[in-house]
Amino acid sequence: MILVPTRICNTNKCSYCWVFKNDFEDLFFSEKNIENIENKIEIIAEKTNDYNIRFFWWEPFLKFWIIKKIIEKLDKKKYNFIINTNLSLIKDEYLKFLKENDIKLIISCNWDLYSHSTTRNLESDKILLLYENIKKVIDFWIYYQINIVTTPKIVDRLYKNFYFIYNNLWGKIFNLLPVNYNWWDLKWLKEFENQLDKLKSDINNKKLYIKFINKDVNNNVWLFNSEIVIDSNWKVYPSMVILESFFNEEKTKIQISDFYKEIKDIKDDFLFYENENQKIYEKYINKILNKRFEDIIENDKESSRIFSNFLNQI
Ligand code: SF4
Repeated sequence: MILVPTRICNTNKCSYCWVFKNDFEDLFFSEKNIENIENKIEIIAEKTNDYNIRFFWWEPFLKFWIIKKIIEKLDKKKYNFIINTNLSLIKDEYLKFLKENDIKLIISCNWDLYSHSTTRNLESDKILLLYENIKKVIDFWIYYQINIVTTPKIVDRLYKNFYFIYNNLWGKIFNLLPVNYNWWDLKWLKEFENQLDKLKSDINNKKLYIKFINKDVNNNVWLFNSEIVIDSNWKVYPSMVILESFFNEEKTKIQISDFYKEIKDIKDDFLFYENENQKIYEKYINKILNKRFEDIIENDKESSRIFSNFLNQI
């Protein structure tokens, strides 16, 4: 499940990002809200059998105190903790806490200097700092994955860029996000396939020892994952789609619960939350996505086919 500690982003410049970035005083988690959070999270974990807590979207380290408090309240033998981050705010003190509590990082790093600046619009000194910070994470022996986005503008560098991360940043575990949120035409998808073919050959010939975390391409909902999200305004939703600006008006229709409620009421909300309900939500979301993003979804299907072939052959 995903916990959103804040809807503020400290960089706010990525060319492919449509997430709704706004935060108001009354949306922040407060000390009081966190009082019973372990019991509320437990209800969702039991119901969905998901004991992975992922602090995600915008920049979670802006609210490190919240992350720390929540982790301290939960049973570490039961739960896994993951933080998605752009790593720009990391401090030794945070890294120490991550190490002590066995917290994993998913680091957004869009490849080499050129590719990162093209997709994330950052100045080179900020990108160099990111590379330095990844080295710090390695020095602290913290488990990390590299989250990489490739877009049509940089897809011809994909093969080269894997070697860049592999050799220079010691990345061995990858999460590749190839198409979502971008307009790809067939020419660029063909290039995507070419680049993956070269990569496949090196992986199968043991020239490159890398591993992909999510070998299953999850497409129940096009463009988005189905995963419970506890938003920064304390509402609970069934899919990451609610994080996007274009879904602001519809999201109340798929709200499952609200963490401001009493435990007993949250339990009631989840009483009938089963696969069947999940399918109904997915159907509704797909209907809206299909209506608004028909062409993008067609290309997403094609890219998923290419990507699935690649994953099945390595
Ligand atoms: S992708 Fe993440 S870091 Fe980039 S603008 Fe969006 S929220 Fe900020």
